[in-house]
Amino acid sequence: MVTEMPVQKKNAQEQRRENAYQVIDLIRRENEGVTRGRITEEFGLSFPSASKIVEYLKEFNLIREQQGTGNNNKPVPTYFLNSNDFISLGLSLTRHGLQGVACTLSGTVLEHFELKQNGDARQILMDAAQRLSVIRKNYEKKGTRVLGLGVGIPGLLDTEEGRVRYAADYHQLEGMDIITLLSEHVDVPVYAEQNTNVAAFAEKSLGAARGLREFLYLNLETGIGGSLFHAGRLYRGENIFLGELGHASVNPEGPLCDCGNRGCLELYAGKNVVDSKIAQNPQNQEEILAATSRDVAQVLSPVVCFLGLQDIVLHGSLVDDYSIIAKQIRQELRNSVIPAQSPRIKIHLSPLGSSAPAVGAALWLGEIALFNLKGPFFGLHDPKIPIRMDGVI
Ligand SMILES: [Zn+2]
Repeated sequence: MVTEMPVQKKNAQEQRRENAYQVIDLIRRENEGVTRGRITEEFGLSFPSASKIVEYLKEFNLIREQQGTGNNNKPVPTYFLNSNDFISLGLSLTRHGLQGVACTLSGTVLEHFELKQNGDARQILMDAAQRLSVIRKNYEKKGTRVLGLGVGIPGLLDTEEGRVRYAADYHQLEGMDIITLLSEHVDVPVYAEQNTNVAAFAEKSLGAARGLREFLYLNLETGIGGSLFHAGRLYRGENIFLGELGHASVNPEGPLCDCGNRGCLELYAGKNVVDSKIAQNPQNQEEILAATSRDVAQVLSPVVCFLGLQDIVLHGSLVDDYSIIAKQIRQELRNSVIPAQSPRIKIHLSPLGSSAPAVGAALWLGEIALFNLKGPFFGLHDPKIPIRMDGVI
């Protein structure tokens, strides 16, 4: 498969960083190391161009070389990420609390902690900042470079300003300057992104969407949200109201939602709603789950039809706790699209668990810090993110 390098007008240095970023992503996806031949094959590059990228990454100690065996038993240099010298930090705030991680470049989680939601968003962020600051100091003492902190936020985030515009059940976060708050306390560059976006990035790098260029990620929890990867990049849209499939109405006459709309999908298919319906009528579990699947498919099918999507990654406690629901959603979706498209629709279950957004935030946003890039964004809404490079590259 030849994956095109992104065609955007860039100066030579930006292009080199972008290429380096893509190669790091490739090495991470392929656990067994990558040869220059593999890089040429993936990106359609010439051998000298692949060698230049490899030299660039070696210069900054981001990859290490090991002799592998190629055709005819000839020794072939194979490249792995140099996980020992760099880590990045990740945080994810959810309705239940907060998860923090420290990850290597390959996505191995070295540190993990959880804090329970205590109703005080600022306090929980401060507690997390303190934990992360200790982790940062410990790793820096050992000579490890801490690249930055990525923060996954529930709800709508204005990535230009790093401020939360809307967070259901976390209204305290709204308007808060999370980037300044955390960067002052952890003393690393901080980047914020919506939870679903960073979780989708984790799926693309380490999980169910590894190697996929086009996929829709859907998180099914009490809140429901999605992300779209197009041509290997996160689709950004033109405004902050992105990915909010949970607030697509499935019943215009339905009850009023916290967002101001009526009959939103979350009010019918949110995990807490489904749990309580089943608790009240356990004998009707099958029908309740079937109706939930229909509601989810009702929102997904126009998206799938319009975009010609084939791969959908489902993640969250709704699919974890009710194993039948993923199959039902697939069936409902297949029933609601053009019959010729039906067999192509594949549902993938996330293998990453609840720490996926924190891990995704660490990996993605750590790399933004590393390469001084604006990130793998697609669309008009590039965030103005603060960069502190300390001359790494
Ligand atoms: Zn709503």
